[in-house]
Amino acid sequence: MARQAIVQSNGDEESRRRDAALRPRWLREVIGQKAIVQRLSIVLNACKKLKEPLSHILFDGPPGLGKTTFATVLPNELGTSIQMTSGPALSKPADLLPFLTNVEEGSILFIDEIHRMPRVVEEFIYPAMEDFRIDIVLGEGMNARTINLRLKPFTLIGATTRSGMLSGPMRDRFKMHEHLEYYSVEELAEIIRINARKLQTPISEDAALELARRSRGTPRVANARLWWARHYAASEADGQITLDVARAALDMAEVDRDGLDKQDRRYLELLVGVHNGGPAGVESLAASMTLPVDTLSDEIEPYLLREQFIVRTPRGRMATARAYQVLGRPMKPAPAEDRQPGLFD
Ligand code: ADP
Repeated sequence: MARQAIVQSNGDEESRRRDAALRPRWLREVIGQKAIVQRLSIVLNACKKLKEPLSHILFDGPPGLGKTTFATVLPNELGTSIQMTSGPALSKPADLLPFLTNVEEGSILFIDEIHRMPRVVEEFIYPAMEDFRIDIVLGEGMNARTINLRLKPFTLIGATTRSGMLSGPMRDRFKMHEHLEYYSVEELAEIIRINARKLQTPISEDAALELARRSRGTPRVANARLWWARHYAASEADGQITLDVARAALDMAEVDRDGLDKQDRRYLELLVGVHNGGPAGVESLAASMTLPVDTLSDEIEPYLLREQFIVRTPRGRMATARAYQVLGRPMKPAPAEDRQPGLFD
């Protein structure tokens, strides 16, 4: 179990601490996402010159690509403060009140997983985003009255793995909408080299590239792979991450040569072996894996889709030739009578 905790890509406490320790603090330290960095530099510069607050910004993309990183870099650049919360923590408008009444002029309010904010909270935040005011209803029924509270101008930064789940009016209130892409191997190798230096761990050039190649295009995964390789090097070698150490560490963590981990392979095994290559619905795949549907569609599938291990069709997910290849199975789907009864939708 200990090993699993170390190589897990996100979500747990250990991963959160590691991310916070390794997170870039300034825009110039952010690797990759060049076009986004350029656009943000321009708006930051303009805001300073015009003495206006930064416009509301929405970051979207799969987990671990840098949404929180961008959100935390911006207040540093502006010399302002940030308050952080998340959609699931805001179940009613009153949960948002302390954050809104605490905003300082030009400061940032960051809402992670903003697509999971209930509609009533969303509607409560609209006037705050548009006119920097909120309407509070006091009392009930005949005696109810609305008071208007003025807020200091602030910037809302939203992060979402599912921009499609945001309502149209909410999306329209963000003046900037930035979509984060997966990183190239070279960019991830750069992140790994920088973070190895921060962790005072010597790493060879080819080892950094090997870890990068096997990091699912995702900086958070690269951090986790580096962290594990560092522990492996300390325990099983002389503390230096060489190519051999990196390979042995990743093999032991069951990360394969394509960077796929146990969960990715289980997904593909199910789709190919049990669902005969598909099409299979995400709900039935999630049920077979005993994982929430969100974990499949937010964390596992985006990378498999991007790397063309699977395709999405109107009838469900289908395995591609690359999936059969990586599993070492012949492309020809098994005949229907070979299917295991009871395991199909
Ligand atoms: P998200 O909010 O999209 O889930 P994070 O911003 O928390 O992702 O990123 C996870 C970690 O990956 C960060 O703590 C940081 O160490 C690293 N990271 C992400 N994006 C970058 C980047 N562009 N440059 C350098 N490191 C990055």
